[in-house]
Amino acid sequence: MIQTRDLTKFYGHTRGIEGLSLNVDSGEFFGFIGPNGAGKSTTIRTLLGLLRPTRGRATVFGLDSVTDGIAIRRRLGYVPAEVGFYNGMTGGSILRLASRIHGVSALRGNEIANQLNLDLTRKADELSTGNRKKLAIVLALQHHPELVVLDEPTTGLDPLIQGVLFELLREENEQGATVFFS
Ligand code: ADP
Repeated sequence: MIQTRDLTKFYGHTRGIEGLSLNVDSGEFFGFIGPNGAGKSTTIRTLLGLLRPTRGRATVFGLDSVTDGIAIRRRLGYVPAEVGFYNGMTGGSILRLASRIHGVSALRGNEIANQLNLDLTRKADELSTGNRKKLAIVLALQHHPELVVLDEPTTGLDPLIQGVLFELLREENEQGATVFFS
């Protein structure tokens, strides 16, 4: 599902990651940990084709992260470390937009929002950090992607909601989704 070989990213002289080789098989529930600055976000952003590696290679779904980034991102759900949304739109209207893009009904997204106790009538850019994170989780999971990638998804969530999130991820995983998170 995910494969990296000698994956290396330097930001000028600053090392993001160096020589990372890992394999994530289809159906795995894969977590990776490391201190701040270890390169977790760099790894994820490189996998998704949002950053170009300095050296080495990453494939997701067998697709190359550099040349097939769009195809990769189309097929997965992604919760970034720092989430941002279009100004002025409510969570509900962003959800409807996202579900139309994916060609699914917004029902599942509404269900997840309820489980996370997220008010979809509020404007997304006016939400607290934790609630913005919840909206990102709703958007990442609402279309039942075959791969879910989450960059420190529990940041800003209270312990109860963290439990709900892991329950949601376990459900997706049981239904066949691969879960990859930092
Ligand atoms: P983590 O997600 O594990 O906290 P990051 O991938 O964010 O780690 O960062 C890894 C290293 O790359 C850090 O030393 C960080 O300062 C550096 N880094 C990350 N993003 C940038 C950037 N846009 N420009 C320069 N250096 C960066």
